[in-house]
Amino acid sequence: MRAMLFERPGEPLKLAELPVPAVQSEEVLVRVMAAGICGSDIHIAIEGSTIPAFTPIILGHEASGVVEAVGPDVRDFQPGERVSILPDVVCGTCVNCWDGRSELCLHRQLIGIHRHGALAEFVVAPTRNLVRLPDGISFEAGAIATDAVATPYHALVRVGRLHAGERILITGLGALGLHAVVLSRVLGASHIIAATRHARAGQRARARGADVVWTGEVASWPLAAVDLVVDFSGDPRLIEAGLERLRPGGRMVLVGISEHPLSDLRLTVSAIVRRGIQIVGSYGAHPGDLAEVLALAQSGRINIENSVTHRFALADAYLAMEHLVDKWGDPIRVAILPTMAESRPSVLCRPVSA
Ligand SMILES: [Zn+2]
Ligand SMILES: [Zn+2]
Repeated sequence: MRAMLFERPGEPLKLAELPVPAVQSEEVLVRVMAAGICGSDIHIAIEGSTIPAFTPIILGHEASGVVEAVGPDVRDFQPGERVSILPDVVCGTCVNCWDGRSELCLHRQLIGIHRHGALAEFVVAPTRNLVRLPDGISFEAGAIATDAVATPYHALVRVGRLHAGERILITGLGALGLHAVVLSRVLGASHIIAATRHARAGQRARARGADVVWTGEVASWPLAAVDLVVDFSGDPRLIEAGLERLRPGGRMVLVGISEHPLSDLRLTVSAIVRRGIQIVGSYGAHPGDLAEVLALAQSGRINIENSVTHRFALADAYLAMEHLVDKWGDPIRVAILPTMAESRPSVLCRPVSA
């Protein structure tokens, strides 16, 4: 099979011809139809701030496809079925798995970081990672649903416990933050404020259902009092701005990853204690989240079909990552389509800056 191998950060991935992987007892071989590119791929392949378990490794953890073959102990899936693949490979027997929080499995491995990923013609995943892709949902939407939609869904529903009538502030409006806006609407938030430094991202959030958008300098943002803040930026300035606007007793959920020390936040212990606020992290999603997100998409309650804005052939996977870093053509999500012979010239041409 054709696969894109990562060896060292900052070096283009290499196209390789590898044997189609074999499936073990409860595993499934999936023919990849779409693989989303995510910030985590950029942390590995370009920045080097996340280090995969081994190299050379096939990256790619937001995938969908068609079941090609199943292991001898697989009963629930058959060749030909359309599926989305959740990236977290979990043990099923640790305290968090027992508690229904498998995204925090103590023995968790990630497809595309600890095992070979989906930037290839085929990927292997355990059966419990698969969720059937409903009719009418494209492979592209099914791929990005696994992370770019299920992760904000998990943060809002399971961790943030957003409920109808609440006021929410969403900071950081990449693909995850934008989907959080869309999801907050369907979950019944009474008022959605979307905040970002980037004007274009703000316009998008407005078009997708934010009631109010704050852009530009953080210092210029108005005061407000919200029940829930969810941050997708990892940026201390935005997190601080969110904390200042949290009502006493409110909740803050951190989703955006960064290596900033907490000392970068002007935050005192008493500001947490006296206001009785909760600050909690949310990482990833579990199969229940993905199933619910896909059900919402199938019923038409949310539209995630227009979230993939740029498509690339497998051989251009590294270019797709650079595309996302440089934001050429204002991408929301870019996807690799292994069945596409060649990327379209329009996505290959870097715009000439003035
Ligand atoms: Zn990701
Ligand atoms: Zn576990």
